[in-house]
Amino acid sequence: MQFKDIVGQRVLINKLTEVIDSGRISHAQMFLGRMGYGTMALAVAYVQYLMCEHRIHHGEGAELRADSCGECPSCKKIQGMMHPDVHFFFPTVNTSKIEKPSCGEYRSDFHKFLLENNFYVNLNDWYTYSGAENKQGEYRALDSVELIEEVARKSYEGREKVFILWMPEHMKSLVANELLKTLEEPYEGTLILLAAENDARMLSTVKSRVQTIRVPRILDAHLPEEAEGDYMIARRLENEMQDTTETKRLFIDWMRLLFKLKMAELSQWVESIASIGRERQKLFLNFVMDYMRRSFSQTAANQPANLNTGDARFDTMFPSMVTPRNVEQIYESLSEALFSIERNANPKVTFMQLSFQLSKHIKNR
Ligand SMILES: [Zn+2]
Repeated sequence: MQFKDIVGQRVLINKLTEVIDSGRISHAQMFLGRMGYGTMALAVAYVQYLMCEHRIHHGEGAELRADSCGECPSCKKIQGMMHPDVHFFFPTVNTSKIEKPSCGEYRSDFHKFLLENNFYVNLNDWYTYSGAENKQGEYRALDSVELIEEVARKSYEGREKVFILWMPEHMKSLVANELLKTLEEPYEGTLILLAAENDARMLSTVKSRVQTIRVPRILDAHLPEEAEGDYMIARRLENEMQDTTETKRLFIDWMRLLFKLKMAELSQWVESIASIGRERQKLFLNFVMDYMRRSFSQTAANQPANLNTGDARFDTMFPSMVTPRNVEQIYESLSEALFSIERNANPKVTFMQLSFQLSKHIKNR
C-alpha cells in the first residue's frame, strides 16, 4: 500500500512522512478514525514507508512530499502480505469450524481479506468474511501469548519489527493488560501500531501509553501547500490574543473564508491558528461556540443575542446561518475539535477538518 493509493488525507500523510524522515517516531502509536476513513490502509502505508529501502521524495511543493517505492523487496513483501516482520492482530469469532479462535487460526484468511479490499476494511465485513454473521468477535488470550512471544523474538530481517493491532477496542482487559506490558517495556526497533475506530472503549492506561494520530474525514485531498510561512497574522495574535478584538477579527475572517472556501487563503488561516498554541486555540473555540449559541437563540427564539464582534454588518447577517437544521452539527463539530485540541491532536489537521465541516453545515442551513 503506497500513500498515493490512499484516498485524500494529504495533509496528514505529509506530516507522517516528515516525522518518519526525521527518525523521531514513537514506538507505540494509534491511528484513530471512524469507519470508512481508511485508518487501516493508512497504517499499512505508513509501515511500508517506514520500512521501504528506497523512499521516494517528490519535494515539498508536491501533493505528496514522499512515498514508499512500491518495488523494493520490503515494499513487495508488505504488498503481498508476506513480510516476516510485519505482524497483524485482530478480533476473531467462534464458528462451527473454529471453536477456539485466535489470530493464528485466522491469519491467512485475514491477509486475503485485507488484500481483496485493498486495506479499506471494516469489522462487519471481516466477521462476514470469516463466516460468522451476527456474532461479535474479540481478541483472545491466545493472541496476547502470541504477541508477547513475537515481540520478544528477534527480527527476521534484522530491521524494524512492526505489530499492527486492528480494532484494539475489542480487547478485554486481560488481553489489554498483556499488551500494556509490551507498551511499557519497548524493545529496540519494535513499533506497535493500533488502528482503532473508537477510543472511548479502550482502557485509559493503554491510551495514555500510545501517541494518538487522529485520522480525519476524507476531505482534504489536494490541499495547496504554498501557505507555509505566512506568520503575519500569527505574530499579531501572539501579542494580541488577550485582546478580544483580535479573536473576533479571526472569527470573522474565518467565517468569510468558509463561505468562499478558497483553499489557499483557508490554509493560511489554518497555519495562523495552528501557530498560536493550544491554550489560545481553546479560548478561540470557546468564543466561537458561544457566538454560535447566541446566534441560534436569536434565530430560533427571536431573543436578542447581544452579538458584538465590532462588525455590525456581520452581527446582523450571521445569526441566520445557524438554524434548527444545522445547530447540532455545528456544535458537535466544534466540541469534537475542542476535544481533539485538548488531547494534543495536530492543530492544523483539526482546524482544517473543522473548517470543512462548518462550511458544509452552514451551507445546509
Ligand atoms: Zn520500497
